[in-house]
This record gives sequence, C-alpha cells and structure tokens, in this order.
Amino acid sequence: MSKLPHLGTSIFTIMSQLANEYQAINLSQGFPNFPVDARLKALVSKWAKKEIHQYLPMAGFPPLLDKIAKLTQNSYQRKVNPATEVLVTAGATEGIFAAIQALVYKDDEVIILDPSYDSYEAAILLCGAKPVRVPLKDDFTPNWDAITEAMNGKTRMIVTNNPHNPTGKIWTSTDFIQLENLLDLYPNVILLSDEVYEYITFENKHISANQRQKLWERSVIVSSFGKSFHITGWKIGYLIAPESLMIEIKKVHQFLVFSVNSLAQYAINDYIDLVEVSELGSFYQQKRDFFRTLMQETKFELFRCEGTYFQVASYANFSDENDLDFAKRLVTDYGVATIPLSPFYGEGKDVKCLRFCFAKDDDTLIKATERLLKL
Ligand code: PMP
Ligand code: GLN
Repeated sequence: MSKLPHLGTSIFTIMSQLANEYQAINLSQGFPNFPVDARLKALVSKWAKKEIHQYLPMAGFPPLLDKIAKLTQNSYQRKVNPATEVLVTAGATEGIFAAIQALVYKDDEVIILDPSYDSYEAAILLCGAKPVRVPLKDDFTPNWDAITEAMNGKTRMIVTNNPHNPTGKIWTSTDFIQLENLLDLYPNVILLSDEVYEYITFENKHISANQRQKLWERSVIVSSFGKSFHITGWKIGYLIAPESLMIEIKKVHQFLVFSVNSLAQYAINDYIDLVEVSELGSFYQQKRDFFRTLMQETKFELFRCEGTYFQVASYANFSDENDLDFAKRLVTDYGVATIPLSPFYGEGKDVKCLRFCFAKDDDTLIKATERLLKL
C-alpha cells in the first residue's frame, strides 16, 4: 500500500547522490556553489548569541512580515497587509504544500503545466484531488487552447510557475491577459503562482501576479529566500494571498510546522535591508551568458533562457538514448551531473533534453564544459 504509488525518490536527490558517488561536477540540483554573503553569515553569528531561540508567532516574525510587505510594495506596487496577507514558510515547498492542502478538496482537479516542478503533483494527490497535466507548447509558452479545454466545473486550481523551472521561460503580459480572461469564466478557481525565481530574469522583467489586480484577489503567490538570497539550505520562503485564502492556509501551516526557524527569520529581517534584489538578474545574466558561450563549443543545442538559473539543452542531434540513461552516463563516464527533463512530465515522455544549473563559480562552469566537449 502506498499513498503515492507511482512516485519514487525525487530526481534532484537521485542526481545529486550520483554526483557525490562519482565525484562529478554537480550541475543538477539547483543550488549555488559560491560563498554566501559574509554579511548574512555575520548576522547569523550575531543573532545566534542572543536569546532568540524560541517559537516565533505562527505566521512569522512580525518585523519580517512588515519587511516582506515593503518588498512586495517596492517590487510590484502591491500593498499587502503584513498581519493578514503574508505567511513565512519553511521554504517555498512548505508554502506550496500548505496552500494546496488548505484549498483543494477531494476529487477536485488541479491544472499543472508540463514540464512542471515535482512537488505540485504530490501535494495534489495527497488531497485526493486529480492533477491534470497540460503540456506547454514546443517553445514552452502556455497552450491556451489546451488549458481552456482542460478546465471544467471540477477545476479548483491552476498552478503556474513563472519564471519557469526547468525551461527558464517567463510569461508575457499577453499570457496574463489570457489567464485573466479564462478565469473570468471560473469564479471558484484559485491561481497558485510559483514565483520563486522572480528576481532572476534577464532581458525581460518578471511580471508577478501581484501586479494583476483581477488575479491577485484569487491568487496564492509563492516566494523563496532560498533563491533570492542564495541560501537554498535554509528552507525559508513566504506566501502572499488575500486574507480569505490565507486564513485557510494558516490552519494547515500551524499543524505542519507551526512556525519557521527563528534564527533564520531574525537574520533575514536585517539582511533584507542590505540587499538590492533587483541586482540578482544581472548577477545571473553574466553567469548565463558565460555558460552559454562555453556550451556553444559542445554538441548540445541550447534553448532560450529568459530567467531562473537553469539552461535547457537538447542532445537529440547526437544521441538516441533516453534522457535518464543519458544523464546517468554523463555522470559515470564524463563526470558531469545534470537533470533529465522527463521527470517534469507525466509518464513516458521522451524528451532528449537536460537541464544544467549555472548558479556556479566560473571555474566549475569551465571544468564542466571541458568535460562535455569530449562527448
Ligand atoms: N518551486 C520551484 C519552481 C522550485 O524550483 C523550487 C526549488 N528548487 C521550489 C519551488 C522550492 O523552493 P524552496 O527550496 O524554497 O522550498
Ligand atoms: N528546486 C530545486 C531544483 O529544481 C531542487 C529542490 C529539491 O531538491 N527539492 O533543482
């Protein structure tokens, strides 16, 4: 018996473990390998010495809730009430899980757009609801005809991820208008807008559901300090949602974790004033450009990358192997770990694409591509 019979260990765990086992260069699981800001480490040391080690309020450290509200106002001109519309979560993962558990009922349908991040499906299935996978188009833009066709009276939620993991695609204002028009027909459908890479965009700026009044009223918006402050291991993020939805999400959050790590909240509350999140895009754009230039020398064909720290590349022009086998062989025979794309889809998809994480120092990216040149 299993509540999740067809789910196994996540591909991120599998590939990172394999990378460790074979001492490969790890461009698989998404995390930076460069040092964290010394100022943030100093804040952790400072606060660790003080008596701040007991439970914080369930929804988050109140000054941090205020700062998140301020950041949301500065970034998206959206005024949110820190007491009722913000929730600090144990990573975006917990936020996504709590929101789905709180708002989706048994036998509801939830639309996810493939390729999709793995945690959505598991959370939906654990509610006794049905994930409805709608493929993105070949250029990874939403297929509005297919989404419209998938919607019906049972649809409770649509999950979007912009900027998109794994493809690096970002939404245009036309996409938002399409979504708004569609949701006009379904007043009970909620948008779960996963925006964890919101500050990592390049030529075009990120558009947030925070900026779309009609959507905001029915949205849960997901952010991650892990991505924005290069601290994926801290597992801390937050949700923004209107009070009516947030009341329900808090009911789940309080019995899932009750409250989030106090030391992390104190440190971030200070650090948030020291960083300019709008600079994250140019920081990663340099890495993207550097990595893409190195990759041009290899046989891989690169897709466009508009945001996130992931680059998708196809090997269809030089191998017939399925992507899982190919990714494993890259580790064992060439010493480079990547993420195959098929686990982001429903069963049986043959995509012949890999995802490379370029949130790495230059030396790592150079060494990895030198190895890939041998293919
Ligand atoms: N959503 C997406 C699209 C992600 O890529 C990730 C992390 N890789 C998460 C959610 C989870 O973020 P966190 O580590 O803050 O839980
Ligand atoms: N979100 C990270 C990625 O896409 C992985 C996080 C995890 O391992 N759960 O690589």
